[in-house]
Amino acid sequence: MALFVLTIDGIAQVPDRMIAVTIDDLPVVSTRRDLKNRLEITRKLLEHITKAKVPAIGFVNESKLYAGGTREEKQVDLLRMWVDAGLELGNHTFSHRSLNAITLDEFQADLLKGEPITRELLATKGKTIRYFRHPYLHTGLSMEVKASFLTFLNEHGYTIAPVTVDNADYIFSAAYDKAFDASDKVLMKRVGEAYVPYMEAKIDYWERQSKQLFGREIPQTLLIHANFINSDYFDDMAAMFKRRGYKFITLEEALKDKAYRLPDTFIGPAGISWLHRWALAKGRDFLESNEPKMPDFVLKASGFESE
Ligand SMILES: [Zn+2]
Repeated sequence: MALFVLTIDGIAQVPDRMIAVTIDDLPVVSTRRDLKNRLEITRKLLEHITKAKVPAIGFVNESKLYAGGTREEKQVDLLRMWVDAGLELGNHTFSHRSLNAITLDEFQADLLKGEPITRELLATKGKTIRYFRHPYLHTGLSMEVKASFLTFLNEHGYTIAPVTVDNADYIFSAAYDKAFDASDKVLMKRVGEAYVPYMEAKIDYWERQSKQLFGREIPQTLLIHANFINSDYFDDMAAMFKRRGYKFITLEEALKDKAYRLPDTFIGPAGISWLHRWALAKGRDFLESNEPKMPDFVLKASGFESE
């Protein structure tokens, strides 16, 4: 990993890098479902984000704000904490269903159902909802569906929030949740200590993929989740990014880079990084190989069968 570039006078310089942090499945995604734990996860995550001055955006599933069809004000308050921290919120659909599994009409209805509370909270800060993130990064199985959905998004004032730094933080967090539920502190620590090194290996990979495709490092867009492991390790991760020369920018700023004007023509079933979508469109030779895998013990502890 080449972290530093030596200049003529031999002084190490950190490269200029930019990254937008996007956080999905708000207010919280964890097996720790009781309000006290959800509040603690939210409070700690926002504390880290604020301290590291990260202009993050959170993507909401409003279904989590209801119990038995009734709006739960205490869950809404968790979201309000994000807005009060000065952060932007986007739409991640009401119930987190895959566009590849239901009809476009059903999907669009689920998207619209997922915006009223987010709109209401943003309005208290004079903001409006601007970005949409596909659940599972599933973007449709035909160009017809993609084109119709894009028209729908335009009509409703949404911009798609792409992801370049794809990773499996949710598998780490599932392992962390399970170890917590089993009161296995040793495993929790082991999973936690493997997390930031894994994310660094991923970042290194996406930096290489960007250079392979564009001959330069574009402003990256990171996807992580509002989960337990990030509430404990976001500060270590932010420090890792800073050490690698990253400046945290808004999603809006990242998307100004011309790379993001390239179309997404991917119609496969997987939810993959936009860097891979663009690389596949250009030809398989542009795909960077050796994408890092997660440690076996984490996968095993998570209960997931594969990444
Ligand atoms: Zn999600």
